[in-house]
Amino acid sequence: MPEKFFVGGEWRDSSEVLEVIFPYDNTVSGSIYLSTEDDIEDAIASAHKGFQITRKLPSYRRSEVLRTLHRLMQENFNELVDLMIIESGKNRKTAVGEMTRALQTILISSEEAKRIGGEVFSIDWTPAGENKQGFTKRMPIGTVLCITPFNYPVNLSCHKIGPAIAVGNSFILKPAEKTPLSSVRLIELVLEAGYPPEAVNLVQCFGEKAGKMVSDPRIAMLSFTGSASVGWMLKNRAGQKKVALELGGNAGVVVHEDADLDLALKHTVSGSFANAGQNCISVQRLLIHRPIYEDFCDQFIPAVEALVVGDPRDAATDIGPMIREADAKRAEAWVNEAIGAGAHPLLPGKRENAMFWPVVLTDTTSDMKVRCEEIFAPVVTLVPYETWDDAVYLMNDTPYGLQAGLFTRDMKRIMDAWERIEVGGLHVNNVSTFRVDHMPYGGVKSSGFGREGVKYTIEEMTEIRLMVLHLD
Ligand code: NAD
Repeated sequence: MPEKFFVGGEWRDSSEVLEVIFPYDNTVSGSIYLSTEDDIEDAIASAHKGFQITRKLPSYRRSEVLRTLHRLMQENFNELVDLMIIESGKNRKTAVGEMTRALQTILISSEEAKRIGGEVFSIDWTPAGENKQGFTKRMPIGTVLCITPFNYPVNLSCHKIGPAIAVGNSFILKPAEKTPLSSVRLIELVLEAGYPPEAVNLVQCFGEKAGKMVSDPRIAMLSFTGSASVGWMLKNRAGQKKVALELGGNAGVVVHEDADLDLALKHTVSGSFANAGQNCISVQRLLIHRPIYEDFCDQFIPAVEALVVGDPRDAATDIGPMIREADAKRAEAWVNEAIGAGAHPLLPGKRENAMFWPVVLTDTTSDMKVRCEEIFAPVVTLVPYETWDDAVYLMNDTPYGLQAGLFTRDMKRIMDAWERIEVGGLHVNNVSTFRVDHMPYGGVKSSGFGREGVKYTIEEMTEIRLMVLHLD
């Protein structure tokens, strides 16, 4: 039976069914009912009503719901891992890692639910403020529309619904249509954990249909994670509502000659190919200082060749399929285009349906798509640089700016990089791919707008209300 969606306080079906495909062998791994326009209207109305309940929930109660959700997710850990594997083709190691992080996201949300406070501040800095006292408090904003991508379907949903529950907002979750199964289970657990059903809505539909919710004034905030093109387009349609965008990137990592080379190799290999490169902070541009370039390449290639490519269900697999054959074909075309224009493949890769073996390219130029656009595939470019200023220039030579990595032992260089490299987060002696779930996470330039990372999402999902007591 297809999985139902949850709208208006009930599980619903419809006349339209969408099959979910396991990209490794193109078999059908499940199916869902798609929500209609009427269902979407009901979701908005229900969430609007549900907010009148959730806004009054005390923080200990919101924290308890999240703690219970954390326990339920722990109890259903393996089921959620298996669902993610069959809906997205991500390998078991990555799926287990994602679930482990999703648990942390929810646990941190339950802790932060008790820390949402405010300020008492002096108004009397000027004569006009004499005999007055100021207070601020963070208040929930209302209904949050949570739109999520295919690549981390559980944790990225938790990054939105965890903080939404922590502050007492209602929400509508719209997962990616390619990976809708794990969200069904997640929402079942949210309901079992005791968040008021009217405030919990799961809409299953294609993107364009969801776009109509973005301009609805009953939605207080759009929290979007996905591609830059869709994200910025939706921001333009969002009108007066709050908007947070977590978008794409083509992350750069610098390895300077004074770096710990073994450490750099270990992290860059995993950071370039985790989740088959379908990671917004995947290492795509690896900038290597010229004196160590040959040595780095000589060690990097065999380490990449040792990665196990295959069935994502096997515990040993490092690289499974990409989400769809069409996406693998697109990445392959970009690689071939680069090679046609003079790039040299140190590892040529190969493609079979949605499976795409790791590609390592040298002799690329900054205008090649493999370097200047987000490839979102197991492809990395190795770029030698001569001077530190060249490295900084190359790092910033992109429309994106999500996260970056730098391997060096020089403190002055580290501080200079922090100031000059245009990204939301810099990781020193690690790669751009590093993330823990409570740190402020988000991009500059085309990569995003606002920050996630539970406490920071809470700031985005609340508004500061001022009250002034006039005591005279
Ligand atoms: P996508 O933009 O195609 O889709 C993301 C979500 O938006 C899906 O739920 C989709 O249905 C919905 N959508 C698509 N068109 C829409 C429209 N017109 N109106 C409303 N909703 C619409 O992205 P994807 O292919 O699922 O995911 C990959 C992208 O996500 C990459 O660019 C990646 O970098 C980015 N991403 C960013 C982060 C981050 O935290 N910065 C994390 C993961 C993925």
